[in-house]
Amino acid sequence: MSQLMVSISGVRGIIDQGLTPEVALSFAQAFGSYCNGGKVVIGRDSRVSGPMIQNVVTAGLLATGCQVIDVGIAPTPTVQLATENLHAAGGIILTASHNPVMWNGLKLLAPDGLFLDGEQGAQVLALREQRNFALKTWEGLGSASVYEKAVTDHLKKVLGLSFLNLAAIRQRKFKVVADCVHGAGGVIVPQLLEALGCETVFLNLEPTGRFPRNPEPTPENLTQLGEAVRAHRADLGLAVDPDADRLALVSEKGVPLGEEYTLALAVDFLLRERKGKVAANVSTSMVLDDIAAKYGCAVERTRVGEINVAKRMREIGAVIGGEGNGGVILPDVHLGRDAMVGIALILQHLANFPGPLSELHLSLPQYVMCRRKVEVETQAQTAKLLERIKGKYRNEKLDLLDGVKILRAQSWVQVRASNTEPIIRIMSEAATPAEAEGLCEELMALMKT
Ligand code: MG
Repeated sequence: MSQLMVSISGVRGIIDQGLTPEVALSFAQAFGSYCNGGKVVIGRDSRVSGPMIQNVVTAGLLATGCQVIDVGIAPTPTVQLATENLHAAGGIILTASHNPVMWNGLKLLAPDGLFLDGEQGAQVLALREQRNFALKTWEGLGSASVYEKAVTDHLKKVLGLSFLNLAAIRQRKFKVVADCVHGAGGVIVPQLLEALGCETVFLNLEPTGRFPRNPEPTPENLTQLGEAVRAHRADLGLAVDPDADRLALVSEKGVPLGEEYTLALAVDFLLRERKGKVAANVSTSMVLDDIAAKYGCAVERTRVGEINVAKRMREIGAVIGGEGNGGVILPDVHLGRDAMVGIALILQHLANFPGPLSELHLSLPQYVMCRRKVEVETQAQTAKLLERIKGKYRNEKLDLLDGVKILRAQSWVQVRASNTEPIIRIMSEAATPAEAEGLCEELMALMKT
C-alpha cells in the first residue's frame, strides 16, 4: 500500500514512511498561504505522533503569518464547529480518522468548517506542488494562542437541540458502555453521557492514542464492547472512531447493529420530528429509502466523501444526512459527521420507544451488506476495471454517480475507487447474507479475469 495518500481534503500517511515532518510542513505552508495569513483553528486526535505533527504544522502556519488557534485534543466535528464559530480563515484537524496507530494526517477545513471541496483543495495542492509559499519576514510572522472552550461549545450546541427532551432522556437513566478506543472521543463523550443522565462504563477512555485494537468501529472490532455490555447488563454500547465523527452501536444483547443502522436510527427519529429531505452517499444502505418513504420524504444520493454529502445538504436544505459508516450529519449543529449528534438523537429515540435497542433496531427493515476490496496499482487499472463492469452490466439499471452501481429490485452492488486508499471497494446489499455475498463474489470474479 502506498504510504502517503493525498486528496483534496488533505493528506494521510504512515509516520516516517509517507508522512514525514517535511511533508506535513509543506502542507501547512501551502494551507497557510491559501488562508492568506488569516486565523487558522488547529486541533488533533490523540495519536502519539500528534504533538510532533502539530509542532511542525504550527511552524508552517506561523511562517506564513497565520494566527494559530489551538483547540487541543478534540474530535473532528468539534474542530469543524470551532472553525465556523471563531470565524477562522480555515482549520486543520490532525488525524488519520479510523486508520491504525502508525498513521496520521491533516484534514483541511474551509471557513465554514466544511472540508475543502475539489476546487479549494486543488488550489492548496497547487501551492504545495509549486512550493509557492507566502513566507513572511520576522515582522510578519503569525502568533499562536489556545482556545479551551471548543468542547464546551460543541456540547452546548448538541444539548441545546430543540427536539431533544433532556428530562425524558435523563429519566430513563440509560446504562451505557462507551468505547473511545483511546481516541479524541475521550474528551467529550463522558461529559455528553453525564449531561444525558446516563450511568456509564468506559472502555479505552483516556486519549493516549495507543489504540488497543483496530480503531475502526466495525462489528468485528467491537467484541470487547459487546462482552462488556452483556457483563454490565447495559442498555446499549457505543463506539466512536479516533476522531469521533463515526458512531457504532451495540444492542443490550451485546450485538453490534452495524454502522449503517446508526444513521438509519437517527433518520428514523428525526423525520418523525421534522419532515424534509435526506441526503446520503451512494454507498449508504437502502434502508434509508424505506425509512424516508414511511414519512413521505425522499433521499438524495451523492458521491462518497463527507464534503459531497454536506454540500448537497446545504443545496437542498436537507434536515438530516450522512454516511452509512456511522456518520450522522445534522445541519442544526454543523454540516459535518458528528458522533455526539448521533448519540443524542439515538438516546432520544430510545427514550421515546417502549422497548430495548434490539427491538428498536428490528422495527426497521433489515438488510445485510457485504464489503470486499481489491488492491490496485494505478488509476488506469481502476478505470479499465470499471469500464469492463459497465459494459458487462449495460442492460441493467446502473447508477454511475461514483464508480458503477448496479441496482436490482431488492438489492444492489457497487464497485468504486476508494478516496483514501489505493484500493477498489466492492459493496453490496440484499435481504440475506448469502445474497449479498453472492453479489460481491460475482463482481470479484469479474475483476480477476
Ligand atoms: Mg473519523
